[in-house]
Amino acid sequence: MKSRRRSYGYALASVLLVLVVGWVGRTAWKELRQLHRSFASVQENSFRHAEHVEASVRELNETVLRWDLRRQPADRAAFQVESQALQQWIRAGRASVTMSSQERTLMEQIGAAFDDYVAQSTRLMEEQERPGATTSSQPMSERMRNLSANVLTLCEELQTAERAARTVFLKDSQQALGWVRQLLLVTFAMLVVLVGTAVVALYRGVIGPLRIELGESRAIAARHEKLASLGTLAAGVAHEIRNPLTAINVRVHGLKRSLQAGSSEHEDVTVIDEEIRRLDGIVRDFLDFARPAAPRLVPLAAEALFSRVQSLLAPQWNRTAIRLKVEPPPAVKVRADPHQLEQVLINLLRNAAESIEGEGDITLRARADTARLAGRATPAVILEVTDTGKGIPPEVQKRLFDPFFTTKESGTGLGLAIAASIVTKHGGMLQYRTQVGRGTTFSIVLPRVVQNDPG
Ligand code: ADP
Ligand code: MG
Repeated sequence: MKSRRRSYGYALASVLLVLVVGWVGRTAWKELRQLHRSFASVQENSFRHAEHVEASVRELNETVLRWDLRRQPADRAAFQVESQALQQWIRAGRASVTMSSQERTLMEQIGAAFDDYVAQSTRLMEEQERPGATTSSQPMSERMRNLSANVLTLCEELQTAERAARTVFLKDSQQALGWVRQLLLVTFAMLVVLVGTAVVALYRGVIGPLRIELGESRAIAARHEKLASLGTLAAGVAHEIRNPLTAINVRVHGLKRSLQAGSSEHEDVTVIDEEIRRLDGIVRDFLDFARPAAPRLVPLAAEALFSRVQSLLAPQWNRTAIRLKVEPPPAVKVRADPHQLEQVLINLLRNAAESIEGEGDITLRARADTARLAGRATPAVILEVTDTGKGIPPEVQKRLFDPFFTTKESGTGLGLAIAASIVTKHGGMLQYRTQVGRGTTFSIVLPRVVQNDPG
C-alpha cells in the first residue's frame, strides 16, 4: 500500500518534471528562433540606411558635376535612373520592421528632403541646358553641395539614431542569450533530476526487490545445501538408533506386563516407556526431515483433513486449558498427500499449543482465495492455525525455519523446517504473522483444485 502510494508519487513527479522540461525547452527554442530572426534582419542592411543614402547622394552629386563638365545626355539619364532607384529604396526602407519610430520619422524626412533635392537638381540642369543660360558666379560643385546639404544633415542624424538602436539591439540580444542560457541550465538540471528520479524509481521498484529476492533465494539454496548434508548424516544415525530402540521397546513392554500395576517398578517402567516413545518421535522427525518422501498427491477436502487432525489431537488437549476451535471449512479441495499435510498441521498445532502458557485458544480455519504461487496469481486454499500464545520475537523469527533451531528445552527444532519443506513440495508456501504477547498465525497456502479440474 505504502509502496504503491510512493510509486504513484514518483509517476506524478516524473510527469510534472517532463512537463516543466518540455515547457522550458519550448521557451528556449522560441527565444533562440526569435534571436536568429533578429540577427538575420540585422544582416540585411538594417542600421545601414543612413550610410547608403549618403553615399548615393554623393554619387548623384558627382554625376551632376560630370554632366556639367561634358554635357552628355547619358549622364543626365544616369542621374534620373539612379535618383528614381534611390527614391524607391527609401520608400521601401521606411517599411522595415526593425526600425525604431525615431528612425522611421527621420527616414520620412530624408525621403521628403531627397525628393526636394532631385526636383531642384533636375531644374538646375534644365536651366543650364537652356540656350543662353547665364552662368552663375557660384561654381557648380558648391551649388550641388548646398542642394544636398539638407539630405546629408538628416543622414547624419539618422546615423546617430541607428548607432543608438544598434547598441540597444545588442544589449537586448545579450540579455536574451543570457536568458536562454539560464533556461538551458535549468532544463539540464531538471533532466538530471528526472533521470535521477527514474533511476531511483527503477531501483526501488525493480532492482531493489530483485536483489532482496536474490538474497532470499541464496539463503534458501544455502539452507537446502545444509539440509542435504545434515540429512544424510542424520538419516544414518537415526537408522542406527531405531533398531536398538525397537528392541528396547519390546523388552520394556514385556517387563511392564510382568510388573504389578501401581508398584514403584511399574511406575519406573512407565516413565521409561514414555521416554522411549519420545525418542522414537525424535528419530522419526529426523528421518522425515532427512529423507522426505515424495508427496503422493490426491484431491483432499479441507473438511476431511480437519476432522482427522482434530480426532488425533483432541484427546491430548482435553485435559489442558487449551481450547481447539475448528471452524467449519468451506467445500474446497487441495491436491495433497494426506499424511504429509496432516503432519504439517500437527506440527503447527503443537507449536501453537506450546506457545500458550496456561489458558488459550487455537483456531483452525480454511478459506478460498487467490495467491501468488510460483510467480503468478493462482486460486488457492489457505489453511490457518491461529494461537493466542506469546508470539515470536524478532530474533527468533530470523531463524524460525532453520533446522535444529529451537527455543524449547526438549525441542528438536525440526517442526517448522519439515512443515516448510512439505508445503514447498506441494507447490505452496508457508507464511506467518505474529505479535509478541498476542499470538501467531501460520498460513499454509496451497493451490486449489478448481471445479472442472479432473481428479
Ligand atoms: P521446536 O518446536 O522443536 O522448537 P519448530 O521448528 O517447530 O521447533 O519451532 C522452532 C521455534 O519457533 C520454536 O522453538 C519456537 O521458539 C518458535 N515457534 C514456532 N511456532 C511458534 C508459535 N506458534 N508461537 C511462538 N513461537 C513459535
Ligand atoms: Mg515444533
